[in-house]
Amino acid sequence: MKMTDAQKDMYLAERVATEMRQYFIEKKILPQDARSLDMDTLAAMVAAVGGTLMPIPEGAESEEGVAYVEKDENDDSFTIYYAKPESENHVPYLSVLHELGHAALHLDKHKKLACKGLGTIHDEADLFARTLAMPRQIFEQVAVENLENGTFNLRNIVKTYREDYFQILQRGQELKIWE
Ligand SMILES: [Zn+2]
Repeated sequence: MKMTDAQKDMYLAERVATEMRQYFIEKKILPQDARSLDMDTLAAMVAAVGGTLMPIPEGAESEEGVAYVEKDENDDSFTIYYAKPESENHVPYLSVLHELGHAALHLDKHKKLACKGLGTIHDEADLFARTLAMPRQIFEQVAVENLENGTFNLRNIVKTYREDYFQILQRGQELKIWE
């Protein structure tokens, strides 16, 4: 069976995310068994690969969407901007990791990537983010812990990861844990 170019790009996104995750664990920035990430951990992860993480400047929010990444002027570094969440409890870690995915995979061809649209490179960045934050082994473990009478309690899994229902649903589907 031959892989299409699109499949190759998705595979690459997954592989880079897995390698980067391993790097963060070895550097002791990311706990091996982390189930949801806080801002300090995210900032340390971004810094470890040469980037900066900061809130979107006042006034730019409506134009740029929930997060974006920009190459810095004079060197190879980059800055990830995120919209401050409405609640302190919600850390938009998948959005930040989505931008980290763009930085790792797409910033050679783009100077700036804003993420309110849909498209192939955003699908790749989404897969990158879920792979980094929700690796198969731990996600399966969380799923099994929330198996009740033969049914996965998705609401509890969403609570464990403190993320959007849609992302959790999709992660389980792409790992073929549920349909
Ligand atoms: Zn994007």
